[in-house]
Amino acid sequence: MENRIYNFSAGPAVLPEEVLLEAQKDLFALPGVGMSILEISHRSKTYDAIHQEAKEGLKKLLDIPDDYAILFLQGGASLQFSMVPLNLMPPKNKADYIIHGSWGKKALKEAKRVGTINIAATTEADKFKRVPTQDELKLDPDTSYVHFTSNETIEGVQWHKEPEVGNIPLVCDASSDMLHKKIDVKKYGLIYAGAQKNMGPSGVVLVIIRKDLLERSQDSLHTMLNYKIHAENDSLYNTPNTFGIYIIKLVTKWLLGLGGLDEMYKINKKKAQLLYDCIDQSGGFYKGHAEKDSRSLMNVTFNLATEELEKKLIDEATKAGFSGLKGHRSVGGLRASIYNAFPLKGVEALVDFMRDFQKRNG
Ligand code: PMP
Repeated sequence: MENRIYNFSAGPAVLPEEVLLEAQKDLFALPGVGMSILEISHRSKTYDAIHQEAKEGLKKLLDIPDDYAILFLQGGASLQFSMVPLNLMPPKNKADYIIHGSWGKKALKEAKRVGTINIAATTEADKFKRVPTQDELKLDPDTSYVHFTSNETIEGVQWHKEPEVGNIPLVCDASSDMLHKKIDVKKYGLIYAGAQKNMGPSGVVLVIIRKDLLERSQDSLHTMLNYKIHAENDSLYNTPNTFGIYIIKLVTKWLLGLGGLDEMYKINKKKAQLLYDCIDQSGGFYKGHAEKDSRSLMNVTFNLATEELEKKLIDEATKAGFSGLKGHRSVGGLRASIYNAFPLKGVEALVDFMRDFQKRNG
């Protein structure tokens, strides 16, 4: 079999090897079924069991209460930028957005098409190096919901504790840190996440929504944009991404096998610490983008003194078997995405490489 390299891609991203090997085996024929997951009907008993197991896996990992619906939708997290306001803004037609990075800005752009938006806080003037403090939030107590992005994938800036919003429904884009640790789902009205970083392949987006909020979805909404219809049909109003949901099932099984999200979180903290220590101990050779309190455990973003040096590092790293370290085209620099499935030994190898690169170029 081909050797695997270290994949630091921001998404679609590395998946657990156990998951890939199991999927590979099942891809010819599911045990006892004689057909693969790619070939069976989404209305079959076999598929239904997979669909329910994926939901059960998520429920166990996050202790999702019964008064929340778990949906598997399509259109990526980007469609949620529209579905959230279309479904949740009425009848007040206003919402609060907290902005501390590029994805939050994209969510804001779509929400503005639907109603009146109050920007509760933004750290754009600080180049999105940090999340806002609780004191900076100027919330409208009468708003429909408050939206925030738990981890800004491009800037590498993450909340380590949810913003406090009282009784207003809290809506979170958790695309790039879902399942990286246990969160208290009860604090949220709605959580959404594209699967392609911590949960599976692209093409499926997980939505966890408190059931009372489904009553806000108006009948006038287009069917496929309506959370209530998707919930009533258990995400099977149309053909879902059956393969993506099957991979989510395998990923939840892998996480449960590790000991759950508390164990995963310990590993994630250890991996991120190794990289941030390397940056902090470099005497300024490597400069972290995010302020320390807002550093992401998933996307470690940093710069070198010049673009030439950054390019040199990326070229040498690629030759040494480290893929995907180039920062997002909008901000440049470097970004090491170290999601759940990224192995500790890969982070150790990168740190060795970075220290050696500094010796040769510092
Ligand atoms: N939100 C965040 C935080 C993201 O990182 C991304 C994708 N990188 C998106 C939204 C958009 O996701 P999609 O490409 O699935 O629409």
